Amino acid sequence: MAQYDYLVVGTGLFGSIFAYEANKRGKKVLVIDKRDHVAGNIYTENVEGINVHKYGAHIFHTSNKEVWDYIQQFAEFNRYTNSPVAFYKDEVYNLPFNMNTFSKLWGIRTPKEAMAKIEEQKKEAGITEPKNLEEQAISLIGTDIYEKLIKGYTQKQWGKLCTELPSFIIKRLPVRLTYDNNYFNDDYQGIPKGGYTQIIEKMLEGIEVRLNTDFLENREELENIADKIIYTGMIDQYYDYKFGELEYRSLRFETEVLDEENYQGNAVVNYTEYEVPYTRIIEHKHFEYGTQPRTVITREYPASWSRGDEPYYAMNNEKNNSLYAKYKALADEEGHVIFGGRLGMYKYFDMDDTIAVALNCVKKELD
Ligand code: FAD
Ligand code: UDP
Repeated sequence: MAQYDYLVVGTGLFGSIFAYEANKRGKKVLVIDKRDHVAGNIYTENVEGINVHKYGAHIFHTSNKEVWDYIQQFAEFNRYTNSPVAFYKDEVYNLPFNMNTFSKLWGIRTPKEAMAKIEEQKKEAGITEPKNLEEQAISLIGTDIYEKLIKGYTQKQWGKLCTELPSFIIKRLPVRLTYDNNYFNDDYQGIPKGGYTQIIEKMLEGIEVRLNTDFLENREELENIADKIIYTGMIDQYYDYKFGELEYRSLRFETEVLDEENYQGNAVVNYTEYEVPYTRIIEHKHFEYGTQPRTVITREYPASWSRGDEPYYAMNNEKNNSLYAKYKALADEEGHVIFGGRLGMYKYFDMDDTIAVALNCVKKELD
């Protein structure tokens, strides 16, 4: 007889939701994480009275009513609406691409004028069936926006040329012929008042949690400690890369406390030219309308990934997706481990996607 019904590896959103729901149904659960804190990449830490998003800006947004209702149990959300600003050299633009961006760029005022300008640029480029991110971007929005706001940012973010990247990455961003600076089209959006960590702490209340515990370093002890394992780390690493390595993209965060009240006047400012080595600066207090006397900012530097680095993003191209499918088939065959979350399922999931797949896994496994 195993000691636990479930061993959950990872205290991020996926692992914590599964643990919470299993515990609620009377299952005996052990949760571990290799980090010294819970919450995975949504971890927030209080610095100078400000909730600092330690692993990059996290804005909650969804159109999934079930997910929105679910997360409300654990925190109250504020009215934050993400409206990033982009700096290209000495020019300032609103994001996502909307009438404010177009009027600043082209000196025009109406949607008709903007549409005509975009059409003219699309025609000049002569793209009928976009084959990669560059062609997709130009055929969506024209060459001016592509050159100033997309090309440099995307190439430094992903470490690849836009002609080598899949077009779905850019389809995440809305293009609008209205003066609406909301970065998302979703029905619901906000930041939990008091940060994200409290959400995970509430989920894990009353459940045994061991921090600073890497599954792979304690495999002998942990492999059979439970009837089943829910694993939210890297699937290829779990299998010792037996079919080969999946590709990831990493990041480096540089955080500073500044002795001033308001550094950039917005939570997120993107730096879109290639020559600036970071992609964005986050000023954390603006997520919660903070009025503290000091401020905390974080510069986000994209970085290549190699074994041992933090794998922040899956690189979902065809080659990697088919390699992932091999690992997934192996996991399904074995049956003892369920892989979940951004790393376990190797997908560019937002928080709402992660919650949706976690709830789906709960339904399949526990109901
Ligand atoms: P994670 O949060 O990564 O949790 C996995 C946990 O498993 C980690 O704590 C890790 O330490 C642990 N672990 C891994 N391997 C082992 C092991 N071998 N042993 C023990 N523990 C292990 N989503 C949005 O909706 N809005 C946003 O604005 C947004 N911004 C983002 C910005 C950045 C820079 C990044 C990287 C992601 C962003 N996301 C955003 C996505 C969001 O972070 C994810 O959807 C969500 O956090 C995924 O949860 P998870 O549980 O799958 O993974
Ligand atoms: N992007 C861009 N310019 C910007 C912001 C985003 O070209 O100013 C592109 C870039 O390729 C990025 C993608 O749009 O990877 C998705 O942006 P998002 O802000 O959703 O990225 P994330 O928050 O997931 O890093």
